[in-house]
Parts: sequence; C-alpha cells; structure tokens
Amino acid sequence: MSATQVEILESVSRFLQRSHGLYIDGRWQESTAAGRMAVWNPADGRQIASVADASADDVNRAVNSARHAFESRIWADMLPAIRERVLLRFADLVEQHAEELAQLETLEQGKSIAISRAFELGCTLNWMRYTAGLTTKISGRTLELSIPMPEGARYQAWTRKEPTGVVAGIVPWNFPLMIGMWKVMPALAAGCVIVIKPSETTPLTLLRVAELASEAGVPDGVFNVVTGQGSTCGAALVNHPAVAKVSFTGSTQTGKQIARSAADRLTRVTLELGGKNPALVLKDADPVLVVEGLMTGSFLNQGQVCAASSRIYIEAPLFDRLTADFEQAVKSLKVGPGLDASAHINPVVSLAHQHKIGAFIDEARASGATLLSGDAGPGNGGFYVAPTLVVNPDAGLRLVREEVFGPVINLVRVADAAEGLRLANDTEYGLTASVWTQNLGQALDYSARLQAGTVWINSHTLIDANLPFGGMKQSGTGRDFGPDWLDGYCEEKSVCVRY
Ligand code: NDP
Repeated sequence: MSATQVEILESVSRFLQRSHGLYIDGRWQESTAAGRMAVWNPADGRQIASVADASADDVNRAVNSARHAFESRIWADMLPAIRERVLLRFADLVEQHAEELAQLETLEQGKSIAISRAFELGCTLNWMRYTAGLTTKISGRTLELSIPMPEGARYQAWTRKEPTGVVAGIVPWNFPLMIGMWKVMPALAAGCVIVIKPSETTPLTLLRVAELASEAGVPDGVFNVVTGQGSTCGAALVNHPAVAKVSFTGSTQTGKQIARSAADRLTRVTLELGGKNPALVLKDADPVLVVEGLMTGSFLNQGQVCAASSRIYIEAPLFDRLTADFEQAVKSLKVGPGLDASAHINPVVSLAHQHKIGAFIDEARASGATLLSGDAGPGNGGFYVAPTLVVNPDAGLRLVREEVFGPVINLVRVADAAEGLRLANDTEYGLTASVWTQNLGQALDYSARLQAGTVWINSHTLIDANLPFGGMKQSGTGRDFGPDWLDGYCEEKSVCVRY
C-alpha cells in the first residue's frame, strides 16, 4: 500500500458485509421483494455490497410507520429544546463515526477521501448543528385585525407553524450523505417524520446514519430509510397518499415527473434540480484567482455538482492567457482512486455515467471541437474520465446546453461582457452563476442580471447553511438552507379569537 493510500477501518469492512434490510420503525426489516441491488466501487468496478430492492409494499409499510409516529405526536409535541438536544446528539454521533462514514462514501461514490471528510462529513456536521438550532426558533406572528362585525366585536389573531406531516426525501448520488441530511434535518427539526430513499447507486451512508439517529434518541418511525429503484420504490414513495411533502434533489426530468404527480394531490414539493451554470469572466479579472476558483468550481467531485461552473465565458483580451493557464492546471491533475489521498480527480459514480459523459465528449470530438484533456486515470476497470476543456464549442453541440455532470467544461471567447451575459442567460436552467471582476460596479450590476438562484462574485460553488439555495427557471422551486428553511416543512396556521 502506498503512503497516500487510506487503510479501510474494520467497522467499514463489517458494515459492507452485512445483509442490509430496510430501516423502518427504528429497526431493520426484510424487504418483501426477493431481488437485491449490487453496490459497486467506482474505483475498480467491483461489487462491494448489496442492498434491498424495496417493493411498493415495503414503501407502504415505511410510510405507514412514519404516519403512525407522526399521529402519535411523540416527536412533534416534544419540547423544542429537547428535540434540539436529540438532534445535536445525532450530530455528535455522526461526528464520532466520521471516518467510517467518509470511507463508506468514498467506496460507494468514488469521490476523494479528502472531499468525503471535508464535505460529506465536515460540512454536513455544520448543517446538522445549524438545523438543530432552528428547532428552538420556530415562531409565528401576532396580527392586528379590522373585522367590522358584529359591531363592537374585537379580534386578536396569531399564526403558528405546524409540522407538515410525513415527508418523502429523494436523494441523488453525487453527495449522498450531505444531501440526505439536507432533507432529514429540516424535516426532523420542524417536527415532521421522514421516509428517505437514497439513489440505488449510493445507498450505504444513509442506512448507517439511520441507526445513529435511533441511538441519539430519535423515536421509532420518525426516520425511515428505504432502498430501491427510482422507478418503483421512488415512485411509490412520492405518490403515496399519506405523504404530505416531497423534498427532491435530482435531475430536472425526474423533478418534473414528480411535480406532475404531486399536482394531483397538491402534495407540497421542494425541487432542487439540475444546472448548466455559467461563469462570466470580465477582462479586468485577476487571472490567478479565476483559475484557482474555477478549477475548484468546475472539477470538485469530478464536476458531479449541481452548482458546478460548466460554461466559462471569457472576455476576449483575457481569453488566450486563461485558456493556457486552465490547460496547464488540467494537465497537472493526478487521476486516481478516491482512497488515494494524492489523487485530485477520481472516478465518476458509475459505468453508465462514465458512458454518458463519454458520449458528450465523443460528439464534441466528432464535430472538430478543440479538446484539451488531462490524465485518463489508471485503466483498472474503474469509471475514470479525463478532465477535459472544450474550447469554443459549436453552439449546436449537446454539451453547450445539456448538463454533462462530469469533469468537462466549456471555455468560450466573447467579444464583450454584454455578449457574455446574453450567452450566460441563454439556458433553460437557473441554478448558479458567477462573475469575475475587480470592478465593484460591474460586479454588482452583473450579479443582479445573471438569472440564477445563487450568484457568486470572484468565487463559485461555495455554499453555506445560512445562505438560501435553490433554482430559478427549470432548476427547481423552493429554497433550502437559511433561517427560513423550516418554512418548507411547516404549514402556517392562522388562529383568530373574538373577545
Ligand atoms: P435522478 O433524477 O436520476 O435521480 C435522483 C433520485 O430520484 C434518485 O434517488 C433516483 O433513484 C430517484 N428517482 C428516479 N426516478 C424516480 C421517480 N420516478 N420517482 C421518484 N424518484 C425517482 O438524478 P441523479 O441521481 O442522476 O442525480 C443527478 C442530478 O441531480 C443532476 O441533474 C444534478 O444537477 C441534480 N442535483 C441537483 C442539486 C440541487 O441542489 N439543485 C444537487 C445535486 C444534484 P435511483 O437513483 O435509484 O434511480
């Protein structure tokens, strides 16, 4: 083993060998379906575990357990300070098992162990504690009224925030633990109960944290995990009549499908969807800051980040200099397994995703586009994709408009900032964007004109628990994070009293 190779913990090996069931009502339960789903290690293409492939009956059992827990009021009526303490204890337990969870995440997802430690655990713990704190900040308003009848009657009113009920959480595969906890924590802080479905590709870490939630004192039935396929288990969950709210993160295509079926019962939905995020580099930008910021903004987690910068528009005077600098930076990246702490770029999540990204690159190559690629990886059966720059791609190429969700970015020369802004906004997506300049006036003007839920100035992709996040246009509806986060998990009730 090389000096930079991480040694697998005993607890991780033991967890992988378990015959994983479904976590329902605070304990492991067998699925009624005989089939199992394999979990693969993207670093070498080998199977590392198997999980249950939940049926609609299993999902029904999980939702009924959650509904029963909600109706018992055991969680919703707990004093907020006690609920907060349980959630803080949950965060402490996740922290105590941080290395185990980080290794599991790297093994099932492929990402660098450094990213698993810093983001899937470090950032997730910040989010967990921030959200736990919101438990004791739930509040309504008192309202003055002017109801004119009967004459002389007086009224007083207030609003209260009440938990919505059973939440269905649907999680993608790019940050399985972090995004999973972005659903579990606000639901639980608001007093709701949750049934969560991780992606079939990356189910392991949520299964492990469900046990830790019970150990922390989350009552049985409040936090349930079902593993299964999107089209069966996922569809059964979001369409269940007892589900009051769906919190979905994933592709725009699946998000629209969920929104359509939710409309039938007016189920509440939050949709965090895809992005094709532009970075607008003005001619006075600091080139060193741009390359440093956009290499991270574009290649973090192999570009499998909804907020990643994937279209970089550069004003003409800086274009050649920045293209050369980006090329040098891309060619310096070492590609290797996530458990090798010295590798900068790691495998993408699955063979299917490797092929999907490959098809975008092949199409660009066939069109005669200039491709500048880095290291292709170890070639050991793992799902590697060389980090690639596509220079001035033809506007008709799919990778100009569609989300690649891989280590592939477009560098585009624009005559001036106005052209850059027009191209940046010429997309059906509106998740994130950035503007790079040293001119304060330009920074403020362009941050207002870029059509995206989050705009960074001289930075890209960095998010925070206290900074609301979500999409404009077809990148979604609703906002996560920030002081108002729990509003998405509460109904606002008006109470009016005559006296
Ligand atoms: P998908 O939409 O394919 O899947 C997301 C989740 O939905 C998975 O758990 C999937 O299950 C499940 N699912 C699939 N079909 C259905 C269905 N009919 N009903 C209910 N659930 C279903 O997205 P990916 O997993 O491929 O994730 C990548 C996408 O997520 C990208 O587009 C990315 O931009 C987006 N994303 C958005 C973020 C944001 O905050 N805006 C953050 C991170 C990612 P299964 O995997 O088992 O099929």
